[in-house]
Amino acid sequence: MKEYLIYSKFCFIEGSFKEATLHIEDGQIASIYSGLNEINGLRLLNYSEFIVMPGIIDPHVHINEPGRTSWEGFDTATKAAALGGITTLIEMPLNSDPVTTTVEAFDIKKEAAQNKLHVNCGFYGGLIPSNLSEVEALLRSGVFGLKGFFTHSGIDEFPNITKAHLEAVAPILKHTNLPLLLHCELDDHQVPDVNDPRSYSAYLNSRPKHWETLAIELAMEIQATYNIKVHIVHLSAASALEGIKRHKQSSTGLSVETCPHYLFFNAESIPDGSPIYKCAPPIREKQNNDQLWKALENGEFDFIGSDHSPAPPVIKQLESGDFFKAWGGISGLQFSLAVLNTLAKKNDFPIDKLLPLMTSRPAQFLGIEHKKGLLKQGYDADITVWDAQQSIAINEDMIAHRHKATPYLGRTLFGKVIHTFVNGHQIVENSEFIKRSKGTLLLKK
Ligand SMILES: [Zn+2]
Repeated sequence: MKEYLIYSKFCFIEGSFKEATLHIEDGQIASIYSGLNEINGLRLLNYSEFIVMPGIIDPHVHINEPGRTSWEGFDTATKAAALGGITTLIEMPLNSDPVTTTVEAFDIKKEAAQNKLHVNCGFYGGLIPSNLSEVEALLRSGVFGLKGFFTHSGIDEFPNITKAHLEAVAPILKHTNLPLLLHCELDDHQVPDVNDPRSYSAYLNSRPKHWETLAIELAMEIQATYNIKVHIVHLSAASALEGIKRHKQSSTGLSVETCPHYLFFNAESIPDGSPIYKCAPPIREKQNNDQLWKALENGEFDFIGSDHSPAPPVIKQLESGDFFKAWGGISGLQFSLAVLNTLAKKNDFPIDKLLPLMTSRPAQFLGIEHKKGLLKQGYDADITVWDAQQSIAINEDMIAHRHKATPYLGRTLFGKVIHTFVNGHQIVENSEFIKRSKGTLLLKK
């Protein structure tokens, strides 16, 4: 199927839904015709009532291979991505062993990904105190940016960095024009003692909002001083939004994302003893999360990433219920679209405003906006076909992540992915995964 047509009344083109026919040829969108346009001899895939849109780009995923493949791995992660309508993802440098902090480790990771990529996959490099001399070579080896932590990452081989490390690395980032991605929590040791490790409020209080705002102030200071690209990953504290907004008025170098779980769940409804909900920064109170959603509606977030970060049930401490011993990370890669569509529906937020945050906007951040993130002539045929009205009940059978443990289990969401195309290959048909290894390993040029 090298050349074919896709038709729908709801093709997401130039920011709105239009009746159109896409002509796919050799993995690219060769032409787009308005309305229904049959061409003799070419197969027409008629998806008339479904949304046809550019494939989702998830710029924040932890796959954990090599080294911790028992936590997830390229095969299961990219299959789950495909079933969730994601056609491109960028993988984080920690949780794999070795961590991606040298060119050698990056080569090992690329090797591990061979023949296992069912969607397109790129990578970030990592910044730790001991790899400053390696950073320039790493940035020139094809990674999409450099990720660092202000606080313990949860992985001992990936220690946090300080302001001094950032000052040392900023000129190199400036030179290569790649973004610095920062996990913004700064431990000032001003937190209460923990009496009950199974208590969610104890966990929430142990990672307060001011940890985020302190770290974000530092991130913004570095951004302004060196005029580099700084990206705040997974914002959870709404109290930081005002400062970010003010900073953005004088600089285009700062960007910020949030994640579906910070918008969908609220601390008040998280039961004690259920570390399936544990992530860092934590899921906060409803009032905070409503402010995050408002900010999303107001265009204050540059894009959304899943921050999919799974672990085996025993490492998630599902039996003990101990929030403090459990791995912090939410497993939800496959359900980002449905979660956000459900929230958009509930809040009467138009999906034509939501979709760019998952397609064209992350493409711009990654510098792949000339090939991906839009339905446009000459672009890669990465296409997601879905039904925004259909509900899905999340059960174990449908979850393609390596582990079925996810806080979305048992929920009913709106938005069913029907077909997914990667580089012109149909890899999901009628919500079933049908074709392997059609993804490309993406290197930043
Ligand atoms: Zn992450």
